[in-house]
Amino acid sequence: MDEKLVDVYDEVLQRNPGETEFHQAVREVLDSLGPVVAKHPQYTDAAVIRRLCEPERQIIFRVPWVDDAGQVQLNRGFRVEFNSALGPYKGGLRFHPSVNLGIVKFLGYEQIFKNSLTGLPIGGAKGGSDFDPKGRSEGEVMRFCQAFMTELYRHIGEYTDVPAGDIGVGGREIGYLFGQYKRITNRYESGVLTGKGLAWGGSRVRTEATGFGTVFFVDEILKTRKESLDGKQVVVSGSGNVAMYAIAKVQQLGGTVVACSDSGGYIVDESGIDLATVQEIKEERRARISTYVESHPRARYVEGHSVWQVPCDIALPCATQNELDGADARALVGNGCSIVAEGANMPCTPEAVRVFSEAGVVFAPGKAANAGGVATSALEMQQNASRDSWTFEHTEERLGEIMRRIHDRCLTTADEYGSPGNYVAGANIAGFTQVADAMLALGVI
Ligand code: GLU
Repeated sequence: MDEKLVDVYDEVLQRNPGETEFHQAVREVLDSLGPVVAKHPQYTDAAVIRRLCEPERQIIFRVPWVDDAGQVQLNRGFRVEFNSALGPYKGGLRFHPSVNLGIVKFLGYEQIFKNSLTGLPIGGAKGGSDFDPKGRSEGEVMRFCQAFMTELYRHIGEYTDVPAGDIGVGGREIGYLFGQYKRITNRYESGVLTGKGLAWGGSRVRTEATGFGTVFFVDEILKTRKESLDGKQVVVSGSGNVAMYAIAKVQQLGGTVVACSDSGGYIVDESGIDLATVQEIKEERRARISTYVESHPRARYVEGHSVWQVPCDIALPCATQNELDGADARALVGNGCSIVAEGANMPCTPEAVRVFSEAGVVFAPGKAANAGGVATSALEMQQNASRDSWTFEHTEERLGEIMRRIHDRCLTTADEYGSPGNYVAGANIAGFTQVADAMLALGVI
């Protein structure tokens, strides 16, 4: 790491003790910025990088609510508004017991560069709660969402901060959050949240966008080698929204997804995962992936986290942060995997990324490969602002164009800064320079 950047990183460690995922996300970006600060001293002179590592605003709040048994429950809510140089704060809400300030900060930090890469006018933020939706009734989820929004509403708005979904927050939760926002403010402000239902201001393709976008990105990588997904074996981790639509798009483009997982274990179906069954298990029954084998006896279920032991050409980690470590990466390399694209945010550990790079595996980082979700959120904001609603075909075409542009921008930037073919360097540098230039133009604020 460049000497000037070491000082910035040390300051981040000191000011944010114990927030290991945040440190990891910052380090990964700073590791790429050496050639940038060498070429453009104005970024360090004006403390742009230091300022970028400090959120503009961090909100932490109490979320009390009453469960079905009449007991008062207590959770903690977060919204970290990280950077608004390019547009209103934008980023999802995560409801998961692992959520804490460090997790929200790592996600918010990554979101700045990801959103910048989309080329659309959105700043970076993230939020959520340590609320665990697992096993909660419909009524409990609704009351929790209402309690959460009862505080959050005062901090967000179409021109201020536009939350969306992430792990544990999908269409159902966005509905309850939007309903409560509307009730409190007495405004039908469609542009305040994205990921809305189609009947009330949502965009077509938003649900599919992150998974579809990740596969479009992989398709672009394959095109550089004059290859396609046709006949490729793919392993996807997770079975949530991102994983499901990554599976769908791989299948549409002729690939075979042989395995997917949830937090309990994974299923292997050599003839190709049956997506309708996964959808029925996860979206309708909200059950475990292990039940897949009940209707597909030729498939097998394996308990635990070793989905990366399954041989494949392409691996798409679509579950959660740090789910793929050095040992997993070595297993993938050993089995001949040649492309890894992150559908989730920071699913590969730094050691895993090193293993891929040493083995010549093409590695597409989440801030480029999974940017299709937030990009389509920005398209939802465009439709809301013009009170319009686009067709599926038009919206998917726009998503495809955006993913192609991100891919090409990563490669051109990596070339320009002396790391040809390095998508990590390309994504970090291209994402960074656009935000940094805007920050310089806007003065010391
Ligand atoms: N949570 C998603 C992400 O990680 C989407 C954010 C959004 O649509 O605002 O990018």
